[in-house]
Amino acid sequence: MVLNELGARINSALQALSKEPVIDDKAVDALLREICGALLESDVNVRLVHNLRQNVKKRVNLDELAASGNKRKVIQLAVFDELCSLVDPGVQPWKPRKGKPNVVMFVGLQGSGKTTSCTKLAAYYKRKGLKVGLVCADTFRAGAFDQLKQNAARAHIPYYGSYAEADPVQIAMDGVAQFKGSKFELIIVDTSGRHKQETELFAEMEQIAAAIKPDNTIFVMDGTIGQAADAQARAFKESVDIGSIIITKMDGHAKGGGAISAVAATGSPIEFIGTGEHVHDLDPFSARPFVSKMLG
Ligand code: GDP
Repeated sequence: MVLNELGARINSALQALSKEPVIDDKAVDALLREICGALLESDVNVRLVHNLRQNVKKRVNLDELAASGNKRKVIQLAVFDELCSLVDPGVQPWKPRKGKPNVVMFVGLQGSGKTTSCTKLAAYYKRKGLKVGLVCADTFRAGAFDQLKQNAARAHIPYYGSYAEADPVQIAMDGVAQFKGSKFELIIVDTSGRHKQETELFAEMEQIAAAIKPDNTIFVMDGTIGQAADAQARAFKESVDIGSIIITKMDGHAKGGGAISAVAATGSPIEFIGTGEHVHDLDPFSARPFVSKMLG
């Protein structure tokens, strides 16, 4: 079920509750059954769905609410808050500071939209007046540097990479050093998203992180991957210190459940969502407007 269908189904469950003549345990259970079923069909992790159900039930004490007559409102608010907390770990994402050499490392699987998102983030902060540079530390995928170069040139953003150097750690260090030397304020390092072995990919990420000591590490995840999101986010979390998340392809048929699971698995906030292939298709994320929009 795609995200707006999920929203529509939750909405109609809430509407149905409004029409119930009596709001009793049975009505609340029916509502929660419908909402939880919709979340599961959208690939939200089963543990999270269970927690949501428990938390709403805890908040909605029908005996205490009996006299007040605003049961429906209390239930609706509890559902809304719980949906928000699914995508909000309660931590503010790290932000670059003007006048400092902020280093950000991007990690994520190949195809997730990592390289595209690097340029989008660079363009976003360039518009905010920061001096931004891009470093391509992906030497595994042939054409990675060319892709970053093309994207960067199109967005008029300086870039660093090498066709000759095969060691991504060296490239990352050299690129960061060069941009720092030229007083760049935001240095974004793109890393590889694939290796012969997964363990090699994670080892490489750890080595790059140890060498450049990023101020923030952004995990890029494809919003359309569904159930696989939980395991993928956990695997990255174990290797690198994920500061924030970018969920891509939220314009397409993203179910959104993956996004929710990624937040839970990493405890890190979603900072942006990718909403298209164009360099400006990057929207800052915040939980309450996102849930409001989803519910329509
Ligand atoms: P990487 O291998 O992780 O670096 O992935 P790329 O940046 O090369 O992106 C893989 C594909 O996804 C490309 O065709 C991108 O244009 C596309 N892509 C990336 N982000 C988005 C997005 O937010 N929406 C859509 N529709 N496509 C995206």
